[in-house]
Amino acid sequence: MFEKFPGIGPRQARRFVQYLLVVSPAVRQEIAEQIKALGTQTAQCKKCYRWYTKEGSGATCPVCADTHREQSLLFVVEKDADIDNVERSNYKGLYFVLGGIIPLAAEEPEKHIRLRELIKRAEAEKPAEIILGLSATTEGDHTREILAEKLRGLSKISSLGRGLSTGSELEYADPDTIASALSSRT
Ligand SMILES: [Zn+2]
Repeated sequence: MFEKFPGIGPRQARRFVQYLLVVSPAVRQEIAEQIKALGTQTAQCKKCYRWYTKEGSGATCPVCADTHREQSLLFVVEKDADIDNVERSNYKGLYFVLGGIIPLAAEEPEKHIRLRELIKRAEAEKPAEIILGLSATTEGDHTREILAEKLRGLSKISSLGRGLSTGSELEYADPDTIASALSSRT
């Protein structure tokens, strides 16, 4: 079952199973309950599509629900973990999680990322600026080009690309680098 987890091979999966066989039934029970609770305590935000821990009955995450944030700025990222990192810089706008990146040879980009959802949100909210915070990789560049084309005319489109060094991913960039990439975005 662990082989289905991202980045886990058969050998690591076997080690996890061996661990579970060695620990006490109480520990196994606790782990099983935590996994079960994931489905009831977390929800996917209806606006930005990130997963968050539910505290009230709202359908959006705390960031989307926070009216004090800059509503005219929309930061587009590949995955949830990128948001956690961007939050450590000084960014105070809103987000949208693409849920992936467009492979170079992809013929239907909307099958790989939430392209339709992003266009819909841009049309509905008309943010003054959409910041494309994609990785400085070949696929990141490719995705950026497609997004810029699809969003043309809806908002001002800017990009962090040049502020991040080649090959770097937003998830691992330090907050100062993100802050400076944000202030020098073009
Ligand atoms: Zn949200």
